[in-house]
Amino acid sequence: MIGLEIHIQLDTQRKIFGTEGFAFGHAPNHQLSPVTISHPGALPFFNEQCLAFAIKLGLATQSHLNSPTYFARKNYFYPDSPKGYQISQAEKPICERGVLEIRHPDGTYQSVRITRIHLEEDAGKSIHDLSPQHSHIDLNRSGVGLLELVTEPELHSPEAAGSFVAEIRRLVRYLGICDGNMEQGSLRCDANVSVRKGADAPLGTRVEIKNINSISNVVKAITYERERQIDQLEKGAAIVQQTRLWNVDTGRTAPMREKETADDYRYFPEPDLLPLQFTQEDIDLHQKSLPELPLQRFKRYFVTYKLGENEAWALVEQRATSDYFESLIQLTQDPKSSGNWLLGEIKAYLNQQNIPIRDFPLKSEKIASLIELVKSGKLPHHLAKEQLFPAMLAQPEADPLSLAEEKQLLIESQAVELETAMQQIMQAFPDEVQRYQQGKKALQGFFVGQLMRQFKGKADPKEVNQVVQKSLKKSP
Ligand code: ADP
Ligand code: MG
Repeated sequence: MIGLEIHIQLDTQRKIFGTEGFAFGHAPNHQLSPVTISHPGALPFFNEQCLAFAIKLGLATQSHLNSPTYFARKNYFYPDSPKGYQISQAEKPICERGVLEIRHPDGTYQSVRITRIHLEEDAGKSIHDLSPQHSHIDLNRSGVGLLELVTEPELHSPEAAGSFVAEIRRLVRYLGICDGNMEQGSLRCDANVSVRKGADAPLGTRVEIKNINSISNVVKAITYERERQIDQLEKGAAIVQQTRLWNVDTGRTAPMREKETADDYRYFPEPDLLPLQFTQEDIDLHQKSLPELPLQRFKRYFVTYKLGENEAWALVEQRATSDYFESLIQLTQDPKSSGNWLLGEIKAYLNQQNIPIRDFPLKSEKIASLIELVKSGKLPHHLAKEQLFPAMLAQPEADPLSLAEEKQLLIESQAVELETAMQQIMQAFPDEVQRYQQGKKALQGFFVGQLMRQFKGKADPKEVNQVVQKSLKKSP
């Protein structure tokens, strides 16, 4: 049994209650205001953008939205939490009872219930690996707005948990509320894991695993923990409810602390903030601005357009790529070719230049013209890839058709020229002509080769074959 707690760092200009912004990798303890470090008299000032982001995620997960919704103080002391409490939500969180559909690696779908999503502020960071004697504290991250999403314990395999995190990551990127970068900690996942003998057995004691910083580590950490718990139980030992840390280097989880019960936090209503209120009109406005969600797009690409599963995921993963694909198929009505160009030549170019798709110099209209030229039979595919595409990149504003003409890449109907040339070839190879006419039909390839060579490969192979066949039928 697996239940996930996912922390989603909100990509806002300023922190949730302070005036300062936050960017990963900044010099330590330089992104701090008096509010965040709780100087006497400093009062929190709620950032409305966080409310908008919460409503968007709530709508995208079909959650029940609570208005009014309240902030609460969660009291605990860690060195990375200078106030001695965290502003969070306890009762009546902004979102409750949501659901997110995921696709399992075996191709089945599951609607996973989301217990709640609440607003809170992030804590700072304790750093233990800079010095053997001391721990360091970087408070930059404290006060950054978070949404904490908690699922019901109804994921049943490490892979299912991985798929859920991947779906959430795509979702928050599509909504534009979080960059989804797990390595930098903008999206963090804690996994609660327990085991039991069968579907009818009571739930086992859960262990919470923290410090998981990628989707592949979600899968690895839960797999390890499942095996560890089964081993323990089979030895006759009990599972202790505790928090464990995932260690990437050893590939194991290790105990961090015995888990506090909720009572230890002494939650009480946050006295410095008013309840948050919003209306049905606010909700409707956000509902209208919701994009098509990533799993919906995946299904359209995979089921309706019949693209391969990996192709469909590759096109869906980043919203900017998917949006480019959308505008391309609008123009070409050809998902297959559009996908091939996007995941082939365009992606290779972006990788080589190390730029994101939004910096790709060619508008979708240009790529659509390129695809049309190939489909019309006027431009051989290899010339499109090797010559026209690079020429277009060098002159992004130019018209692909004019460029192709200028570079003489286009195949014109050359029936007349081909026939003349074929007559000369037949005169040069009378024996071959005779043998062909006596039944050695395999010689057709020889004549096609001769003719192609004369046109330096720039003739339409279909047309060449027709001319060869037609000419050889008649006697020279
Ligand atoms: P806490 O703050 O103590 O971590 P939360 O309510 O935030 O508690 O999170 C509880 C998480 O643990 C949820 O994701 C829930 O699905 C999961 N969970 C609860 N019971 C079990 C269990 N027996 N096995 C696995 N996961 C569980
Ligand atoms: Mg929790």
